[in-house]
Amino acid sequence: MCGIFGIYGHKEAASLAYLGLYALQHRGEESAGIVSYDGKRVRQHKSMGLVSDVFNETALKSLKGHIAVGHTRYSTTGSSNIKNVQPFLVSHKGSHIAIAHNGNLTNTVQLRREMEDKGSIFQTTMDSEIIAHLMAHSEAKDYRENVMLSLPQLEGAYSMVMMIDGMLVGARDPYGFRPLCLGRLDGAYALASETCALDLIHAKYVRDIEPGEIIFIDKKGIKRVSMPKKDKHALCIFEYIYFARPDSNIFGKNVYLVRKQLGRQLAKEYPADCDIVMPIPDSGNSAAMGFSEESGIPLEVGMIRNHYVGRTFIQPTQHIRDFRVKIKLNPIKDVLKGKRIVIVEDSIVRGTTSKSRVKTLREAGASQIHMRISCPPIISPCFYGIDFPTKKELIASNHTIDWIRDFIGVDSLKYLSLEGMLKAMPLAKSEFCTACFNGMYPAKLPKQFSKYILERWG
Ligand code: SF4
Repeated sequence: MCGIFGIYGHKEAASLAYLGLYALQHRGEESAGIVSYDGKRVRQHKSMGLVSDVFNETALKSLKGHIAVGHTRYSTTGSSNIKNVQPFLVSHKGSHIAIAHNGNLTNTVQLRREMEDKGSIFQTTMDSEIIAHLMAHSEAKDYRENVMLSLPQLEGAYSMVMMIDGMLVGARDPYGFRPLCLGRLDGAYALASETCALDLIHAKYVRDIEPGEIIFIDKKGIKRVSMPKKDKHALCIFEYIYFARPDSNIFGKNVYLVRKQLGRQLAKEYPADCDIVMPIPDSGNSAAMGFSEESGIPLEVGMIRNHYVGRTFIQPTQHIRDFRVKIKLNPIKDVLKGKRIVIVEDSIVRGTTSKSRVKTLREAGASQIHMRISCPPIISPCFYGIDFPTKKELIASNHTIDWIRDFIGVDSLKYLSLEGMLKAMPLAKSEFCTACFNGMYPAKLPKQFSKYILERWG
């Protein structure tokens, strides 16, 4: 996951990109960067850390120009280090190409081998760099044609924004795994991973970029082209379950409402005889509301989240993840003492976080703890941009639900069925990727895969 943002035709382009990235912070907390262009010079500022840490007034003032592209990173290919911070900026035949990419390419190794055989020297271990090399080797007559010929060579998941000299480019892979939307503000065009970024800068949402669509924005306006179609779309259903912000509309529907519907469906499938429903804040909030409405069990806030701690799942190492769990959520003992509670969680990946939370709730005096998960068990790795890469790390891939129940320490554990999850969706089931729940991968898989595959290159 990553957050991407681009803006064309605004005198405060970099400041707006900064705000856009701020709204997209939940999509990646490892690093952030902005590249701007004023018609003569390209400038960049990027570093490790949160958007608020990476940029200050001086940095933003230095990013002059009417075009900017920005990126917040959560690594899925390549380490979390300064070399791999995006946007990735290169110069080519007197032009500049800046690339901000969300997703994961699945033919990375094959393409990199081909590029290196042709003489390419790579600077990073990110799959995104391959895009620049494909463009550098192209014999297209101009950059538009170059983009149109280069992108279809990529396999896997990509939503991206690119700045090529005076042009802003937006593209979404033909499966449409990751979201990307278009907005307008004071005559300027904005592209963002989610609509919450448009809201923050007061841009008007125009439409989603369609799967397989490329748009070119320059002083003449906006032009669109379509890449060759795939036999189906594969929108990432996990965006609705966990990743996207609830105030965003993605794939044409509000995320909060979809999550609430998942909670309703969960209550229908697996009711619980309890005194209160409580979410694991914040990602379980919307589903817990739906569960409460459907079941008639009152919703209570049983734990308070410390908002000054980042989301745990997207921290890069297990060591940091465990530490953060402990400092992040504090139970309200007076709400929980002697109560039979049903906890609504969005998902369980490794199970260690849930175990630690349940322990805290028991210590706070809950008499019974029942857990309901608003998606099916995650049994297969994702190769399209979410960092649960090996079966070994996925608790539901290796254990039965009863075993997980005992490991986590709850009185009962139920997951929403695959059919129930799809029923709660606003689009037909054929529109979605559900591979992490059923192992049916819609797009070609990499021959070898590891987040660090390009580090071991050679
Ligand atoms: S495998 Fe799961 S997380 Fe990955 S793209 Fe498909 S639905 Fe999303």
